[in-house]
Amino acid sequence: MTHATVRRVTVLGSTGSIGQSTLDVIARHPQRYRVQALTAHTSREALLAQCLTHRPAVAVLDDEEDAAWLRHELATAAVPTDVAAGVDALCDVAGDGASDTVMAAIVGSAGLLPSLAAARAGKRVLLANKEALVMSGALFMDAVAAAGATLLPIDSEHNAIYQCLPDGYRGGLSRHGVSQLLLTASGGPFRHLGSAALEQVTPDQACAHPNWSMGRKISVDSATLMNKGLELIEACWLFDADPAQIQVVVHPQSVVHSMAAYDDGSVLAQMGNPDMRTPIAYGLAWPERIDAGVAALDLFKVARLDFESPDEARFPCLRLAREAMLAGGTAPAVLNAANEVAVAAFLDGQLGFTDIARVVEDVLESQPVARADSIDAVVDADRRARESAQQQLVRHARPPA
Ligand code: NAD
Ligand code: MG
Repeated sequence: MTHATVRRVTVLGSTGSIGQSTLDVIARHPQRYRVQALTAHTSREALLAQCLTHRPAVAVLDDEEDAAWLRHELATAAVPTDVAAGVDALCDVAGDGASDTVMAAIVGSAGLLPSLAAARAGKRVLLANKEALVMSGALFMDAVAAAGATLLPIDSEHNAIYQCLPDGYRGGLSRHGVSQLLLTASGGPFRHLGSAALEQVTPDQACAHPNWSMGRKISVDSATLMNKGLELIEACWLFDADPAQIQVVVHPQSVVHSMAAYDDGSVLAQMGNPDMRTPIAYGLAWPERIDAGVAALDLFKVARLDFESPDEARFPCLRLAREAMLAGGTAPAVLNAANEVAVAAFLDGQLGFTDIARVVEDVLESQPVARADSIDAVVDADRRARESAQQQLVRHARPPA
């Protein structure tokens, strides 16, 4: 079978958890997709292996020395992939006319400019990089609208909500008879841990997620519930909602990926096994459906679905994110930057788990809220928040073990 339109896909962050799952889905449908460009930060060996398999036209690494190494290896293997380095090269492959679809799966604020370049180019943008939307939600959504891009959320909760909203949804929940969005959260690995025990948890414990296998940064975010806070902000922008219209529901089985409640009492849910290949395949094939390699949901094995309310006393990051969204302007960008610094310090053994929220709160209190009316303003707020977070790290730092 051949397809009239073969999609040319660029995968930003192809060596990560989402990037690898994306290539797995693409490889199941060679008649539908061609890989145009692949990018990674420093994992040059992994990127080489992907280039040998997928033969993209372009590969991008951060550093010129790594790029030279990859160029040499590919030439030796007679693979005709061009290799480039740096942020400008990332924005080029995201925005150039060679691809029509971009998977934005870089982690953190580094994904902002390339994700935005894809939106500005009017492409189909599969957005996994939630931090881009948290930092610059209004600018990002404006860019999507102005360029006529197709923005499809890949974050499983937002993908679920997207599937539960009517076709052509836009312009706010009430216009479509939607009363509330129900954003599910697994609760992370420390759902039952008391406050004292939370002080002592290690990076490896935080990264051992009960249901999902993910990169380390988002795994820590899931454990602090900052991930749900970032997702609350993400949902506000994607679905033109305000925080009061979104209820976070802890659902430990991660089978219901999120829900939309309607004025007539209907609640639509999207369910499935916790496997990111489902939302990725949805985004790649939309509005069609394709095989994602995901096992069918066995409801007898699942047996029960539990729901409980989140504990914001033990997990203050959720409250901090809601407050940042309500404060508006650059506050979500400040929250995101402080969180990135704090999570990196925690993963590095310099900061306790519960100090992540303390650092974020202190940084939010120290930084004035500015208007987020240009990317420069957002990038500036991000930089200042990082500097402030570095100072807070010194205050909260753990003595070496
Ligand atoms: P990951 O750490 O596994 O992979 C990150 C990718 O980005 C890698 O390819 C890495 O090389 C690249 N990268 C990292 N820093 C970079 C930089 N400074 N410049 C350029 N490239 C850089 O992360 P992940 O778990 O795949 O998550 C990717 C994004 O998707 C995140 O924004 C995350 O919040 C979101 N997301 C992930 C999942 C999941 O299941 N993993 C689910 C929902 C949303
Ligand atoms: Mg999610």
